[in-house]
Amino acid sequence: AEEALRHSQKMDALGQLTGGIAHDFNNLLTAISGNLDLLLSRLDTAERADLRDYATHAKVGATRAAGLTQRLLAFARRQPLRPDATEPGALVEGMEDLLRRTVGEQVSIATDCPPDVWPAWCDSNQLEIALLNLVVNARDAMPDGGRITITAANAHLKAADVAGDASGAAPGDYVVLTVADTGMGMPPDIIKRAFDPFFTTKPIGQGTGLGLSQVYGFVSQSHGLVRIDSEAGRGTAVRLYLPRCDREGSAGLPPGIAAEPADA
Ligand code: ADP
Repeated sequence: AEEALRHSQKMDALGQLTGGIAHDFNNLLTAISGNLDLLLSRLDTAERADLRDYATHAKVGATRAAGLTQRLLAFARRQPLRPDATEPGALVEGMEDLLRRTVGEQVSIATDCPPDVWPAWCDSNQLEIALLNLVVNARDAMPDGGRITITAANAHLKAADVAGDASGAAPGDYVVLTVADTGMGMPPDIIKRAFDPFFTTKPIGQGTGLGLSQVYGFVSQSHGLVRIDSEAGRGTAVRLYLPRCDREGSAGLPPGIAAEPADA
C-alpha cells in the first residue's frame, strides 16, 4: 500500500510538471501553426515552390508537435473530455478494419464483446485513441507475429480492489476492456515505469513513450483505472476499467464525484 501511495504521488507530480509544460507549448504551437497557415495560403499562388516546401515541412513538424502535446495533456488529465454513453461492442467493431491494417498480416486480432456488456461513461474518441495505442504496443511486442485479443466485460470493484490505486478510482460498476497479446511480456520494473511520459524501450524514432501515458491519463480522468498483467515470454494484458454508464444515461459515478471540468 505504501508503494502504491508513492506511485500515485509520483504520477501526480509528473502530471503537474508535464501538464504545465504541455499547456504552454500547446498555446505556442497554436500561434506557430496559425502563422504557417497564413504563410501557406499566400504562397499558394506564389511562384516560389521552394518557399512553399519549407513552410510545408514546418507545418508538418508543428502538427506532430501538437499531437505530442495532446498526449501529454491527456497524461496530465488536462484533456477536455466529452463523455457519453459508449457501447464497447460497437466501438470495437467500428475500429476493426483500422486495427487490422495497423497490425499487418503477421498478427491476428480476435474480439469478444458480448451484447450484455454495459455501456461505459467516457469520451469515445479518446477511448479509440487508447485502444489504438494498446494495439500498436501489442503489435510491437510480437515482432514474429502472434495474436491480439480484445474483450469487453462487466465488473464490480470493491473498496479493496481499488485501494491505493494511483488513479483514485472509487468502488462500483465498471466496464472492462482488455487488450491481450502473445508477445514478449513486460518485466515488473518496466511495468512500474510504463505509464511515465517518454519512457520507452523502443529504438529512437519508433517509440515516443507517450502511448501508455495517454491511456493512463484518459482512463484516470474518466474516473477509471488501468491494470497491467504480464508474463515474460507469454504475453501482456492491459485492462481498462471505465465507469458504467447509469440508467439515466450519465456517469454511473458515486455521489460527490462529478465529471471534472476540463482545463481550458
Ligand atoms: P512506446 O510504445 O512509444 O514505447 P508506451 O508508453 O506506449 O510508449 O509504452 C512504454 C513501454 O512499455 C514500451 O516501450 C514497452 O517497453 C512497454 N510496453 C508497452 N506495452 C507493451 C506490451 N503489450 N508488451 C510488452 N511491452 C510493452
